[in-house]
Amino acid sequence: MDMEKHHKVSIWYFVIGIWIVLILQSYLASTYSVKTIPYSQFLQKLKEGKIVEVNITEKQIQGLMQPEATSDEKTYFRTIRVDPDTSELLDKYQVNYSASIESTFFRDILSWVIPVLLFVGVWFFLMKRLAAQQPGFMSLGKNKAKVHKQEDVGVRFEDVAGVDEAVAELAEVIDFLKNPDKYISFGGSLPKGLLLVGPPGTGKTLLAKAVAGESQVPFFSISGSEFVELFVGMGAARVRDLFDQANANAPCIVFIDELDALGKARGFGGAGGHDEREQTLNQLLVEMDGFDPNVGVILMAATNRPEVLDPALLRPGRFDRQVLVDRPDKQGRIAILEVHLKKIKKLGNINVEDLANMTPGMVGADLANLVNEATLLTVRARKKTVEKEQFEEAVERLVAGLEKKNRLINPKERKIVAYHELGHALVALSLPGTDPVKKITIVPRGIAALGYTMQVPTEDRFLMTKTELLGKIASLLGGRAAEEIIFTDISTGAHNDLSKATDIARSMVTEYGMGERAGQVYYKQEPQAMFLQLEQRRNVSGNYSEKTAQVIDEEVRNIIDQQYAVAMKLLDEKRDILEEAVAELMEKEKIEGSYLEELIKKKGTGEPLQESAE
Ligand code: ADP
Ligand code: MG
Ligand code: ZN
Repeated sequence: MDMEKHHKVSIWYFVIGIWIVLILQSYLASTYSVKTIPYSQFLQKLKEGKIVEVNITEKQIQGLMQPEATSDEKTYFRTIRVDPDTSELLDKYQVNYSASIESTFFRDILSWVIPVLLFVGVWFFLMKRLAAQQPGFMSLGKNKAKVHKQEDVGVRFEDVAGVDEAVAELAEVIDFLKNPDKYISFGGSLPKGLLLVGPPGTGKTLLAKAVAGESQVPFFSISGSEFVELFVGMGAARVRDLFDQANANAPCIVFIDELDALGKARGFGGAGGHDEREQTLNQLLVEMDGFDPNVGVILMAATNRPEVLDPALLRPGRFDRQVLVDRPDKQGRIAILEVHLKKIKKLGNINVEDLANMTPGMVGADLANLVNEATLLTVRARKKTVEKEQFEEAVERLVAGLEKKNRLINPKERKIVAYHELGHALVALSLPGTDPVKKITIVPRGIAALGYTMQVPTEDRFLMTKTELLGKIASLLGGRAAEEIIFTDISTGAHNDLSKATDIARSMVTEYGMGERAGQVYYKQEPQAMFLQLEQRRNVSGNYSEKTAQVIDEEVRNIIDQQYAVAMKLLDEKRDILEEAVAELMEKEKIEGSYLEELIKKKGTGEPLQESAE
């Protein structure tokens, strides 16, 4: 939009330029109105004595002659010099004449040198404007990847808070860049490509800069969207150029931000529409395969949409190491807030933990924004120091804007999610054969989950007993059960759990022969071959009778109902544990499974920890 406007303005300059040329020319034409006449007419006028004076050049005769009528002025004329002996004729009729070598210098200047200069001037002007708007316009194919030398990166790990796990992984990269020989002498080589994956605003770009800052090597950064060029072939040329520059500057870091803009899976979208991007991506793959990480070039990229990336990018030897940069939990937010609060010069008496409590679901960028907003509000309110009050107002402002964008959870939903997740965890911990609970969080992750209970199997399992399967169903239903016990009303949050629990129950009846009435019969329908006619398919699928189908449905329903009852009973008995754990989870947003186990041990005096699932 903005750019188009500029273009229009520039074209106006151009039009004005042409207009000026035209005016100049017509002005010249009017002062110099020279009549071109045939030579015969010239001779005629000569005989009539009408010619006043002439100037002869090699090819033409110019001169002044008397007017036709008395009212007219003398006119200039010009004619082609046909006769080489004109001078004799002129002598004969006593006309003053002069001869000169033809010079059209001034006329030429006026008629074409000036227009050309004008054109060139306008052209340069236009190009300059374009170049200003679109850096790289004048240097087509030249790389505009900015070379950030170590001193202008200026970011250290201490500036990136709340993502300790990612920092720990990246520390190895830095060690490599600092002492490459140590690794190379062992014959080791570092992963070629590191991919930072995480939601927007969690600090991926910042982390990449911090790696450069810590390792004190040049940092080349370019955004994926910059590669997707106007002109075919430019993107690929840029990639080549980028790697050439990197190799020449090794050791260094090449960082491609927003890799998804460039690395979307090939073959997405309409026919041939994305040829250019595909070429660029192919070039990137070629360059990645070609370069030797031991020269000290580390390739990093960031994306918040890893799922759309071309699988070729993620293969070993390419971006084979992925570093998760996740949303911060409460501790993380405290750390991030501390980083940004340090920048405020006049900070009131602020409790950082309070701020962290006010900002569940916010990422680093939101928190940085919050601190800035609070400062601005302080200035607006003409206060001397930034106080809690300003932060509260800033949170209100931001949350209103963020709610739609980031799915911030309101306090009531957070409470429901906390009970729900702990419902899963408590049931899982209390039943035999279920996987140990590792951690429970109510920090929203990814796109679907509002919170999750992470269960990690202790060993690889190939067989599962009926008791274990039932326990699994019960713990899946534990979320819903906790909601019912505490709130009586239930929410849609159990949707996924119910689908999983039903799947298990149905498999138990139809595949594992664990039903009571359906018996040891395998009822599962094999996937039908697609080429069979619809008619035939329907016949084939009649694997069991309507009556059996009803029995299966009833059995599935029974299993679910029974396990739901188990979960309800369990949670009802452990209600005090549930309440205490929820308080802790609401406070910390993330609790370890071991904490819950301790709590059960402490509270569950006398009563057996594990109950039968049946
Ligand atoms: P991303 O690239 O993941 O979208 P950025 O790195 O661009 O996010 O983060 C934007 C800004 O938000 C940073 O410049 C910084 O001020 C702030 N920020 C984000 N994450 C963090 C963090 N973990 N610690 C401190 N500041 C952060
Ligand atoms: Mg970024
Ligand atoms: Zn659930």
